[in-house]
Amino acid sequence: MTSESRYDVLIGGQGAAAYAAALYAARYQIKPIVVGEEFGGETAISGSIENYPGYVDIDGFDLMTKFRDQALKYEVPIVGANLERITKQDGEFLSELSDGSKIPSVAVILAIGRERRKLGLPHEEEWIGKGVSYCSTCDAPLYKGRRAVAVAGGGNAAVEGAILLSKYARDIYLVYRREKFFRPEPINLRLLNERENVHQVMGAEIIELIGDDEAGLKAIRLSRPFNGKDVYEVDGVFVEIGADPRAEIPKALKVDLNPETNEVHVDKMMRTNVPGLFAAGDLTDASGPLKQTVTAAAQGAIAALATYQYVSEHRSEQSVRPAKKEAVAKR
Ligand SMILES: Cc1cc2nc3c(=O)[nH]c(=O)nc-3n(C[C@H](O)[C@H](O)[C@H](O)COP(=O)(O)OP(=O)(O)OC[C@H]3O[C@@H](n4cnc5c(N)ncnc54)[C@H](O)[C@@H]3O)c2cc1C
Repeated sequence: MTSESRYDVLIGGQGAAAYAAALYAARYQIKPIVVGEEFGGETAISGSIENYPGYVDIDGFDLMTKFRDQALKYEVPIVGANLERITKQDGEFLSELSDGSKIPSVAVILAIGRERRKLGLPHEEEWIGKGVSYCSTCDAPLYKGRRAVAVAGGGNAAVEGAILLSKYARDIYLVYRREKFFRPEPINLRLLNERENVHQVMGAEIIELIGDDEAGLKAIRLSRPFNGKDVYEVDGVFVEIGADPRAEIPKALKVDLNPETNEVHVDKMMRTNVPGLFAAGDLTDASGPLKQTVTAAAQGAIAALATYQYVSEHRSEQSVRPAKKEAVAKR
């Protein structure tokens, strides 16, 4: 990518919000480019999706492939590199990418999502795939017939994860540091209470991951005894303790963040406080707690409309439409 290629809108991310924005931007006949190293975002690793309208049940990766195919139909270029820095000068944005390229654009839509939170315990990262997981929806079936699994967390994702895992493993320990679950959907709370093999370990934390580098995780240590013991042998631990918006790039651009959630604050047209900079999806405070593929996609579409309006007012004659480029998808 050379710095001579100038776009109307650079879209950061390769998830649902980004691809919906790309599709709508292309159909509004402004010139978009999509940048992001990892294809598909969280949707692609969600496993089976049963709540995206129009599909009774679809694998998340397949759904995102359809999103991308639709953008490619409009010849939207896709660059497989991450955004590292964005600056704004003389009314124009300059995006610096991890592959060293720099892309100027009239507007930017940020759809770079959130980062999953970690427990911060020794071995946690080394044992990912060896007993440590951040995605119960993706990995629960791997625990079919196993003895015991722990889930860390007390929000909706943790509760849903425990319910799902209870269909596969014999005993599930749902470990939460507070005494009450944090805003679970009522239906999930009811389902959880019906599961006799889910043990609700309240007011406790997982403080140690026990195992070895060859076999991975073998047991967890709790911060307080539960039913008389503090070490439980488990085959897996699912970390479902939330996620943080990827706010570094917006922060450097002096974008207003939601003071409670650190999410990018947007208005109903997905505008940030920086003119020409829009944001969509899980990165933003647009959909509150309903962070889903359908809401992310809808926000991407709205952001594209707002961008079209902005670009129509600010576009100069220099915009060019370069040849189609496609990134290699990573699963
Ligand atoms: C386990 C799990 C199960 C889920 N199940 C469902 C479900 O059943 N139904 C449902 O509707 N939703 C589900 N969700 C939620 C849904 O996946 C998200 O709400 C949705 O993916 C948000 O889309 P997004 O485009 O905003 O962000 P994301 O999908 O997170 O995409 C962000 C993109 O930005 C990229 N990126 C990150 N940093 C940079 C950077 N610096 N430069 C460029 N790109 C960058 C990422 O690689 C990614 O491609 C699930 C989520 C998880 C984790």
